[in-house]
Amino acid sequence: MIKTYVGPMFSGKTSVALSVYRKIWNKGHIRCFKPRIDTRDFGLIKSRDFEEGIEARCIDYLEGIMDYIDDSVKTIFIDEAQFLRGSYQVLSYLSIVRDIDIHISGLNMDGNQKPFGLMPQILAISDEIINIPAVCYDCNKDASYTFTLDDLSKDNIKVGDSGYIPLCRSCLLKRLGKDNLAKRLIYKPRESSEN
Ligand SMILES: [Zn+2]
Repeated sequence: MIKTYVGPMFSGKTSVALSVYRKIWNKGHIRCFKPRIDTRDFGLIKSRDFEEGIEARCIDYLEGIMDYIDDSVKTIFIDEAQFLRGSYQVLSYLSIVRDIDIHISGLNMDGNQKPFGLMPQILAISDEIINIPAVCYDCNKDASYTFTLDDLSKDNIKVGDSGYIPLCRSCLLKRLGKDNLAKRLIYKPRESSEN
């Protein structure tokens, strides 16, 4: 079973995943992972309401999960999955063949409103997708988008919270302007994605 929690920054995706973690009695059956690229709280998965965090193995590729899997593992948590590389098939294998429950949290879109990293594949193989909105910074409505306060066009995998705000559709449109947003969404040539 693969359950994926997505949404913009500040939506509380990680908190929702961690609430599942907290309910599991025998933590010995759990393995947690996060990307090595995310240097915040190295080795720990944290959320605003779970400050002590939980220990996580840092991996670069999904394949790295295999080094930590044995028969005692029943549940896996993966945080910030948008930064991971490798093949989504590792997740399919662990879910279908090994019957491990996998809880994944990650950003579905980057600051340019484009699908982020492996998230499209991860969403495609998920049994359940929980899309969690943030609260719009400008109007308090549900926000689906992450907006960068500086120009993000060159670097959409900046790590960290500073410089980002969640916005709803109409406030994103207001801040960027129709023309800029149209340019960003349809006129700009796709960046070559390196995997
Ligand atoms: Zn708004």
